[in-house]
Amino acid sequence: MGIQPALARAAGALICTFAFASAAADVPDRHVILLTLDGVRIQELFAGMDAAIANAPEADSGIYEIEVTRGRYWRDTAKERREVLMPFFWKTLAPAGMVLGNQALGSKVTVRNDQWFSYPGYSEILTGEPQADVKSNDFVRYPHETVLDYIHRTLELQPTEVAQIGSWDGFKFAASQKDGTFFMNGAYDPVPAELSTPEIELLGGLRRQVMQLWEESSNDALTFRIALAYLKKHRPRVLWLGLGQSDDWAHARRYDRLLDYLHLVDGLIAELWQTLQSLDHYRGRTTLVITTDHGRGRTPADWAEHAAGIEGSQDIWIAIIGPDTPALGEVRDHPDVTQSDVAATMLQYLDLDYRKFNPDAGSPVPGSLRPD
Ligand SMILES: [Zn+2]
Repeated sequence: MGIQPALARAAGALICTFAFASAAADVPDRHVILLTLDGVRIQELFAGMDAAIANAPEADSGIYEIEVTRGRYWRDTAKERREVLMPFFWKTLAPAGMVLGNQALGSKVTVRNDQWFSYPGYSEILTGEPQADVKSNDFVRYPHETVLDYIHRTLELQPTEVAQIGSWDGFKFAASQKDGTFFMNGAYDPVPAELSTPEIELLGGLRRQVMQLWEESSNDALTFRIALAYLKKHRPRVLWLGLGQSDDWAHARRYDRLLDYLHLVDGLIAELWQTLQSLDHYRGRTTLVITTDHGRGRTPADWAEHAAGIEGSQDIWIAIIGPDTPALGEVRDHPDVTQSDVAATMLQYLDLDYRKFNPDAGSPVPGSLRPD
């Protein structure tokens, strides 16, 4: 014998009421996209082609044809140089949002971890604090809940509604403390058939054919297109898109290719933002947060590298644009901000309390939430 039909109906009605109430309470239909660009220095972001490196011997800059590179990216002022390097970022995105980290204007963003390379940086971004046990780029998961884990758990999202797509296998490990919590896609991972599309299949095949310098990293343009296709198909509430070739070109000491890459990425950022504005699901309700895991050396001798002790590796930047972010442009005389503040900043746009995520997490970037 089961429970009496009337009671079962009443219980069913009660459950329905609760389900409806929780859906209705889920009012702010906000979305967040975190875009990370690996090891992009404040020097190029805020001032374009760096005079010190532009004038350095070829052995330091690695510039193959200096006149070609100067023609593309050298201009007389820092403002002109950064605008020719990253026109969408500086002419469209920055004025409509906020950009932090220009130390010349009194805005400083630094990492708090003492390692100054990738995994510790991504771990700090995603967990809201430096993690003492993250001391290598090894592909291991650490027992720290990430902001992606927290959003997935707290908003009770489907596994497809939180997504990590990136060009380096390390991103997949930094994204979550557990395997399979939500959609995670490493450098060459195929997208499972039930989640894929013919376009994603084609791009995934190309990704495996386009060789990179490092076998643990795939091509950013293809990763970007897979992410865009995934976004349209599965409409995640939160997406972390991790691009990595800025770090590769810098380590290879090819300043000319690094600048070409940054110009390319600017076009990808434009396409991402315009795509979001073209989709009903995302238009006017999506915040884009862009940042980097670490800086690099400041001199012609050490700009290619980054590590604890290489001064400049701690200097980073953050850009934010979205419906809840004031249009402050490039901020000046701003309180110091750290990499640990990114997670809380993301959570505020989803109306989630970062102290419940991690009481030791950094707080939201001051001034990054438009007053009601
Ligand atoms: Zn690196």
